This record gives sequence, C-alpha cells and structure tokens, in this order.
Amino acid sequence: MKRTKIISTISDINYSEEKLVSLYNAGTNVLRFNFSHASQDQVTKILKLVEYLNKTGKTKLSVLLDTKWPEIRTQKLDEKIEINKWDHFRIFVNESLLSKKNDIFCDYRYLISDAKVGDKIILDSWLLKTIVHEINKDYLVVESLNNHVIWSRRHINLPWKRLKLPWITEKDKEDIIFSIRHNINFIAASFIRSKENILEIRDLLQQHNANHIQIISKIENEEALENLEEIVKHSDWVMVARWDLWVEIEISKLPFYQKEIMDMCFKYGKTIIIATELLKSMVNSPFPTRAEVSDVYNSVILRTDCVMLSDETAVGQFPIQACQMMSDIVVEAESHTNNKHKDFEITFVDNYAVDKKMIAKNALFIADEIKADYILLFTNSWFLAKIVSAFKPNHKVFAFTKDTYVLNSLNILYAIEPFLIWKWWNYPLADENKAISILKQKWLIMQWNKIVIINDVVDGSAISPYVKIVNI
Ligand code: PGA
Ligand code: MN
Repeated sequence: MKRTKIISTISDINYSEEKLVSLYNAGTNVLRFNFSHASQDQVTKILKLVEYLNKTGKTKLSVLLDTKWPEIRTQKLDEKIEINKWDHFRIFVNESLLSKKNDIFCDYRYLISDAKVGDKIILDSWLLKTIVHEINKDYLVVESLNNHVIWSRRHINLPWKRLKLPWITEKDKEDIIFSIRHNINFIAASFIRSKENILEIRDLLQQHNANHIQIISKIENEEALENLEEIVKHSDWVMVARWDLWVEIEISKLPFYQKEIMDMCFKYGKTIIIATELLKSMVNSPFPTRAEVSDVYNSVILRTDCVMLSDETAVGQFPIQACQMMSDIVVEAESHTNNKHKDFEITFVDNYAVDKKMIAKNALFIADEIKADYILLFTNSWFLAKIVSAFKPNHKVFAFTKDTYVLNSLNILYAIEPFLIWKWWNYPLADENKAISILKQKWLIMQWNKIVIINDVVDGSAISPYVKIVNI
C-alpha cells in the first residue's frame, strides 16, 4: 500500500468525472490548480465535481490552489525578435519608449534602479541569458550570451537579492479568498521570500476564519534559500519548486539545494513536496526515461512525503499513465525502504507536542518490533497524525476523525490514510470497534492482522492517551 502521496496538477478544462476517478484510482491524493493559468470560473466547475465524487465515495481527493505571484514578463509581440550571441540590445521599463525592432520591455518598474553592470538577466527561462552592460536613464543595454528567438510575453528572471517586487498581488489575495469560499484545503504560496510572507497569508486566513487551510511555502529563489530556516519553521509544508529554483540558481546546484531543503524540513518535522519534471517526458510519451524513474525512486529513498505531477497531468497526452507510473515507482521504492525513524530528533516548534511525540515515537517503535500489519489512530485536531507522519512510519496508518476539514488535511501526510467516523457530537470519537469494522468492510484489514492503536483524544468518556496492540 502506497505511503508517499501524489499531487496531480490539472488544468481547468476537459476533466470529466471519469477522468478524475481514473486519476484517483491511479494514485492521486491531491489535485492542484495552478492559478498562473486557471480561472476561478473553470475551477469552480471542477470543484463541484470533486465534491460530488468525494461525497459518493468514488474518490477521496483534497484540493490545492497554487498562487500566481507577481511575475516579470516582456511585452506582447506580433512578430518574433531574433537575438544573436554577443548582440547588444535595450531593455526598457516604459513600453511607450520602445523604438528599435529588438527593444525589449520589462514590466518590473524598478529594473533600472536595481540593476548593476555585470548582473545577470535571464529571459525565457534560460533560453536567453544576458549580462547588464550599461545603465542609462530610461533603459539598460544588455549583452546576449547566446542565440535565441524571443516570442510574446516571455518570463524574465532577475536572480538578484531583495527586489522591490511586491511578493503578493491583489489577484493572489482574491484567489486565496476564493479558496476559502470553496473549501480548498491547501494554499501553495509561490515565491515565498521570508517568514513575513507566510504570516501575511495566515493573517488573511484568520480574518476569514479559515485557519484550517494549510500553507505550503514554495522555495523557488535564492532569497528563500537564504531565509530557509525561518520559512520552514513557519510553514505547514514546503515545496521544492525545481522549475523556478533552477532558473534562479545554477542548474548544477539544484540537487544540492533539494537536499538542503529536505534536511531543514526533517529538522522541524515539516512535510516535503518534490515538484516539477519528475516524469516530464510522459507529457508526450507513454513511458518515462530511465533517469526520470531514478529521480522518483530516489526522492522516495531520500524520504520525501509527496511527489508532484505538473504538465504530465495538466496538459500531457498520458495523464493517467503518468500517475500510475508514479505510483508504481513509489511503491517499489517504499518496499526497499526501512525508515529507522532518525527523525525522532525532530524539533517541533510547539512545546505541547512533547506528549504526542512520545506516544507517536513509542507506537512506531512497537509496530516495528512486533511486525504489526497496520497502525490505527484517532485524531481530533490532526496534530497527532501530523507527528506520526513526520516520523515516517514503516506502516500504513489509518487515521479516523470526525471533522471533514481535518480529513482533507490528512490526505497529504505521508503514510496516513484518512477516514471519517460519523458520530453524534456527544459520542466519543475513539470508538475502536467502529473503526475496525469500517476497515474490515473495506477489506483493508483482515482476521489475524496485528494492529497498533494510538489514541490521545480526550472526549466523551475522557480516555487518557494510550498505545495498544490488538489482534484482529
Ligand atoms: P510552478 O511552480 O509550476 O507554479 O512554476 C513549481 C516550480 O517552480 O517548480
Ligand atoms: Mn514556480
């Protein structure tokens, strides 16, 4: 049974009920909408469909909204501009001043005051690399380091520190409010640069009584790497956003930084998502490359919590096959992993986590020692489940909750498979018999199975925390 979670990005068009169910059956746990491209109207339609499918039990999918962030781009063009190696050309911040055929506009208005001679300016995601040669009042003269034909509205990356760019736009804020209204479970915040950025989103969520929404910080530039520890501490989850990260840093350094980010997440027990190009060639081919298979496999061996599909499922020709391939590789890798729970050293930011940490630690230790088949837990606030997951269990963990918000948050946690336990409000949540019968009905556990039960829920009958071994 797969423990590593899969996030599949879907574009807003053409996702029928059948295709969503197939994607779920192929191993998708979370659907991601990229608001750089998706519109609220189109996403609303899919959300309704997902809600219906979840209600009828055909799927168990959570939903993630990825913010656009204030990108920097060139002008709209009707004709391509050809640039040759060593050409000098001008970049303006005022579009009305463009006069030569190869003049480029940049919509970051502080470009000229922020630039220094010798700075890199990257256009079209490294397809055109330039160096600032001269700084004038209205424009920069840059030197091209390669040949390239540039098309309309291309990305510009300025891998310089502390740009005056606002880190969040009005559109991003509107999209966040949209996610609150539509019960979206996670917000992936693009280009997080400091802990203040996360606190600002938390404030916005709090103002709308939406503290249950989890924040995923996307690490995708050098400034985020500099502030990594503070960012990780304040995030619920962290994404290694490899596309933009490699645009901003030297590509050969990418694996090093991936490991640095993962190590920082291990230190604080934060969930990790490895994103972008894991199975890129499956956009156009029913098979991945050998190297891609190794990338997914090694991500699991290095103990990521989630792997993400982007274009593979959003625009690719083989979305279901890509997800199935991802699941197959993940399951294979997991069968060769024995997590020794090195992370028992995790520094949890909250002090009151100590009790939960001890319960979780001992339960996992017992489960390994007695060769249990599964772990079962009850969680009110989902915090116990989060800790158990952060310790990277070698077992599948069935987590029961009464709360649908909690249920959906659990869906992204390593090894945790969430279930809703319906009870009258004043009945205890931690009803072992009920939970076991739900699992039996679904053929998830069988007679002779050995399970470890963890509970720290204090409810109706005021049970004190316990860990227990049960033979079915
Ligand atoms: P994106 O983020 O797909 O929104 O660009 C992920 C990445 O940069 O890798
Ligand atoms: Mn990105």
